[in-house]
Parts: sequence; structure tokens; C-alpha cells
Amino acid sequence: MEPRDLSSHIAYEAGRGVEEVARELGLDADDLVKLSSNENSFGPSPQAAAAIRDYAPMVHTYPKSSATDLRERLAEQWAVTRSQIWLANGGDGALDYLARAMLEPDDEVLVPNPGFAYYGMSARYHHGEVNEYPVRKAEDFAQTADTVLPHYDGERIVYLTSPHNPTGSEVSLSAVEEIAERTDEETLVVVDEAYGEFSDSPSAIALVEERDDVAVLRTFSKAYGLAGVRLGYAIVPGEWADAYARVNTPFAASEIACRAGLAALGDDSHVEQTVQATKWAREYMYDNLDCHTWESAGNFVLCEVGDGSAVAEAAQKEGVIVRDTTSFGLPECVRVTCGTRDETERAVEVLNDLL
Ligand code: PMP
Repeated sequence: MEPRDLSSHIAYEAGRGVEEVARELGLDADDLVKLSSNENSFGPSPQAAAAIRDYAPMVHTYPKSSATDLRERLAEQWAVTRSQIWLANGGDGALDYLARAMLEPDDEVLVPNPGFAYYGMSARYHHGEVNEYPVRKAEDFAQTADTVLPHYDGERIVYLTSPHNPTGSEVSLSAVEEIAERTDEETLVVVDEAYGEFSDSPSAIALVEERDDVAVLRTFSKAYGLAGVRLGYAIVPGEWADAYARVNTPFAASEIACRAGLAALGDDSHVEQTVQATKWAREYMYDNLDCHTWESAGNFVLCEVGDGSAVAEAAQKEGVIVRDTTSFGLPECVRVTCGTRDETERAVEVLNDLL
């Protein structure tokens, strides 16, 4: 037998893992600096790590009250109701829930190019068709209403990423509002704020209260350092928030994830340290890399190095793993995650030697 026709589906290309690279190069994993997946170099919130240990003996139960408590806590933080928080297995899981809730077969979605691959993947799983709008290098990857609207043709979902992966550019609140206003009533604008904590701009969550056609994505994978537990959420308008009960995978946010999330939300100092260090690393890269960089509001910097895959491969041999952005359609660049001071300095030194 065969699976369904998956020929239009592309496989997700994750940044390479430390163990994988260490094994391949015959190096010690501890000597490698991994700046290829926009993870948190400071690790998880220590309070979250303690919660994971504390709740380990309780994982024989389904995550009922912890998920309710976490939704309550997030609702409080964002001044929305609990039903508007769609907890999921990572931000990726929340993207799936939005596609499940919105897409009928052959509905179309509009995604940025370059952009985060999972928008299109998720839409295709849900029998949708994918159209693209260009985020142009010639315009320094600026994202305005005019970036999106000329390419809009009645799609059911329009995905915006702010800060944008892999370029670091942002979409202003007024641009989100204009896009939502000038697209059809039945078009949902999804604003992906996976990197929102690293930005000083206001969140589009402010628009979710006012409108029924804007949803925002957030994750614990980045600033909270919990990529490995898989926890993210969408914040959706109250009018259709009850669809969650009909689209969510039961208990997709695990007991461990919910407990870790709750603890991480109480650990302001970990987030502050992460955000401050990220801002330092961004500046350090702009100032010290011997190549063109773009100003980034995320925890990574896009660098124009000439031949991205050759530079990424050579840097890896020197023990520094960065993301070759060829799969994003930017073969001349690499994306470097903001690391600790030592990691960032080492990455800059290695890249400059190669440039
Ligand atoms: N959105 C963007 C723009 C991302 O870069 C990522 C992760 N790389 C995600 C969403 C999803 O992250 P997660 O599933 O870990 O929450």
C-alpha cells in the first residue's frame, strides 16, 4: 500500500544537532557551539527544569489541571479569556490547529518567501494549497502591507512572521491591521511571534481583542528555553475560540510541558537574562562580523557570506554550527543564532577567518 500523494510535500530541514555533527566529525560534543536552530544558549529556565524533575513521578496522569492552569495563567498575562489560548505541541502544533480549524480541502494560504517552512507544510497536510509573497532582499526584507497585499488573492489564511525567520525583520502593528482590514472577512491573518520576546515592538495580541480575523502564535521554545519539551500556543479571537475543543489533539501539551511552562512564566530573571544577552550578541555580530548583516529583532542574525553552504560547512569543521539558509532561498547567507558571550565571540572569530 501507499500513503496519500505526498509529492508536493517538502520535508522539514531542521538545524543539525550537536551529537550528530560531533559523531560525523569525530569531535567531542562539548567542544561544539551550536548556533543553528535559534535555541536558548542559556538553557531552560532553572525553575522549569526543577518543575520537570518535581513532576516526573506524576507523569502517569493525563495533563488536565496543569493544562487548565497554564491556559489560565497565559490568559491573565495577555488579558484574554482562557478559551482564547490554544495550547499545543510547540508553535508548530498551534499552526496545525489553526489550519485544521480554518481550511477546507483546496483552500489556499499565503506564506512569506523566504519564510518558515512549516506554514506551507501544515497547510498541505490539511489539504490546502500554498501561495507565496516575496520578502525582498532588495528591500532589506521589509514587511509592510504592500509586501503582502499585491500578492493576496482571497486566501483563507495569510501568515506574517514578526520577527521574521530567517531575516529578523518585523511587521508593524499598523501593517498587520491594514492587511487584516483589506483582506476578506473570511481571511485569517496569523501573526507568528515565536521570537516576540526579543523584540521591543508591541505584540499583535492587542488586535485579537478588537478583531475576529487576527490570531497570534507564541512559543516557549525560544526565550523560555523549552524547545525540547514542545510547548506553544495560539491566541485566537473569542468569537471562534471554542473551535479548539473540536480540533485539538487530546493532551498534546504534555504534563511535563505544562508544568515547565507554568514554572518558566514565573521566572522573569531567566527571560530577562536571555533577552539582554541576545541584544548584546546581535550588536556584537553587527559590529564585528566582516560581512553584511541585517538588523534583527529575533535571537539570530542573517549574514551575507557569499557561499552560505560552503561557509557553514567550513565553520562546522571548526566546531561552530550555523544555519546555511539555502533551503530558505538565500544560498549566499547563513543565519547565526545569538549565543552566550563566549559562543558568539567564537562564532564571529571563526566566520571572520573564513570570510
Ligand atoms: N515560527 C517560527 C518563525 C519559527 O522559527 C519556529 C521554530 N523554529 C516556530 C514558529 C515553531 O517553533 P516551536 O514549534 O518550537 O514552538
